[in-house]
Amino acid sequence: MILILNSNINEQSPEFRQLVAHLATLPGITTRVHTERGSEKTLTEIYLIGNTKQLEIEDMQSLPGVERAVRVSEEYRILGRHKDDQRPTNFEYNGVRFGQDTLNVFAGLCAVDNREHVEIMMKAVHDAGQVCTRMGAYKPRTSPYAFQGHGKNCLPYVFELAGKYGIKVIAMEITHESHLNEIKEALHQTGNPTGVMLQIGTRNTQNFELLKIVGRQTEMPILLKRGFGITLDESLNAAEYLASEGNRNVVFGLRGMKTNMGDPHRNFVDFAHVPVVKRLTRMPICIDPSHSVGSRQASPDGILDMMHVTAQGVIAGANMVLVDFHPAPPKALVDGPQAMLLKELPYFLDDVQIAREAYLKRVALRERQG
Ligand code: PEP
Ligand code: MN
Repeated sequence: MILILNSNINEQSPEFRQLVAHLATLPGITTRVHTERGSEKTLTEIYLIGNTKQLEIEDMQSLPGVERAVRVSEEYRILGRHKDDQRPTNFEYNGVRFGQDTLNVFAGLCAVDNREHVEIMMKAVHDAGQVCTRMGAYKPRTSPYAFQGHGKNCLPYVFELAGKYGIKVIAMEITHESHLNEIKEALHQTGNPTGVMLQIGTRNTQNFELLKIVGRQTEMPILLKRGFGITLDESLNAAEYLASEGNRNVVFGLRGMKTNMGDPHRNFVDFAHVPVVKRLTRMPICIDPSHSVGSRQASPDGILDMMHVTAQGVIAGANMVLVDFHPAPPKALVDGPQAMLLKELPYFLDDVQIAREAYLKRVALRERQG
């Protein structure tokens, strides 16, 4: 059960102390306090863990300082959607809103290769009216002999150029706790010209110690990719690890499942799960057409498979699109064959917009059905 406290209450308030003292007398119940600092108000919640079946919602709601009590199912306590749950399904980071009702496109480099390509990419993103991008500095690779990213050496110019082109949020994968510190330090040293959404890749979805470390920091939001060979439930529990450590600004990323049933695509596209994850949790949902399809194959209508699946995800309500572009794909050090061309960016965005408008029309049509 979650007790959502009145917005004027914090851990120093007399009502809070009174409430906690009362909760301590309940047999078989332990508590965990979670504080969420928003731009306008701070929200305090108390999680009651243990034998909560014995507690009546009405009794708990009448306790001092409690605005609302929500009974939660055992699953995804923090990020899940529960009955009568009116907790938010969005958050804001560096002036950009991420929610189950918004759509942000993160077009950018799979991996940073050189400064020139970063600048060309960011200028293209800016010229297309976008404020988000992807830039890989730490790349998990199948072969130990493959390029694994420039790491911390590229961060200063990536962040400076982001500032120059008005980029507000960069999705950047980290694979080790040291990367988190390197990013924080580089942001600080360059004067915080941009923001970073920390990406946990599909190979690390169940790296629980990494999840705990990343979840413990609350400065930067997190994009958690679904594990490519585990169940949806297991991936959603991985997201819950982040939230249970304190960071609930989590976007859940669908990127295809590893099975040859999806051939000739690199992975089996799983964007049918966009509405499913929205129903089960309060997280905004990201789709990654690049890593799920993995090639520039097109259908007879001339439209790339990557664009078809993007449209399928967006028309089902996806909230974020993470997509690989490159100024010179044959020269890309990682994933060149699946990169979209820079000249395709405005066209890609127009196509996404068609799907988004169709989604909004579908929602309006449903509402008219009553
Ligand atoms: C990526 O987005 O660069 C990436 C490696 O994705 P995934 O973890 O989904 O393979
Ligand atoms: Mn890649």
